[in-house]
Amino acid sequence: MAAPTPLIAGNWKMNGLRASLAEARAIANGAAGSRARVAICPPNLLIHQMCEMLSGTEVLVGGQDAHWEMSGAFTGDVSAQMLADAGAKLVILGHSERRTGYRETDEIVARKTQAALAAGLEPIVCVGETLEERKAGHALAVVTGQVRGSLPADLAGKAFSVAYEPVWAIGTGLTPTTSEIEEMHRAIRATLSEMFGAASAAAPILYGGSVKPSNAREILHAAEVGGALVGGASLKAEDFLAIVRAV
Ligand code: PEP
Repeated sequence: MAAPTPLIAGNWKMNGLRASLAEARAIANGAAGSRARVAICPPNLLIHQMCEMLSGTEVLVGGQDAHWEMSGAFTGDVSAQMLADAGAKLVILGHSERRTGYRETDEIVARKTQAALAAGLEPIVCVGETLEERKAGHALAVVTGQVRGSLPADLAGKAFSVAYEPVWAIGTGLTPTTSEIEEMHRAIRATLSEMFGAASAAAPILYGGSVKPSNAREILHAAEVGGALVGGASLKAEDFLAIVRAV
């Protein structure tokens, strides 16, 4: 089975006003002809305009979260169907900032993933251990447990990716060693294969957590690393493009 096409996705989190659309335009210009698929996940209010602006380019637009229901009495929430209607093609689900800040469990992430698939979105499902879990020697068990609990059976044969993001590496400047990343990515690959069979080899396993131009090449060329989910360094076109070019 051929290696999955790499995906480099930028997670803008709660950053970006309409003026930031210029950065997305610069990313699209610089990413043309790239070896990787490139996506930007801006705040919801920018999605529609960004989709219109980037239509005809190779850069995809994604959401950062979506509700498990398609509509209803959920004040302040956004559904997968709404994201798709605005032009999004992907959605990040189960980011640690949502698991921690909004108490999202594996079960909730799995329901959200089902909703994303039903709306025709490609899910990027995030998993990752805390520093305490790593220090206690539980990282592999925690992360493979999250993969089993957060990825619904409906993903079989569908386009999706898993993002391994150690919680302690997000926004901290810290990163695991290359061999720690490879060990975890191999364990995730084996779990996907048990759950979904050989077809799951097409799903890239992204690494996320303090990826920047200076460490991107080493991380992106590690075994079983099929791309990156990039937070802080995705906000500046120059930095994000340097990561895209490191694939
Ligand atoms: C993220 O939030 O998904 C992330 C990886 O952030 P950063 O790159 O800033 O660590």
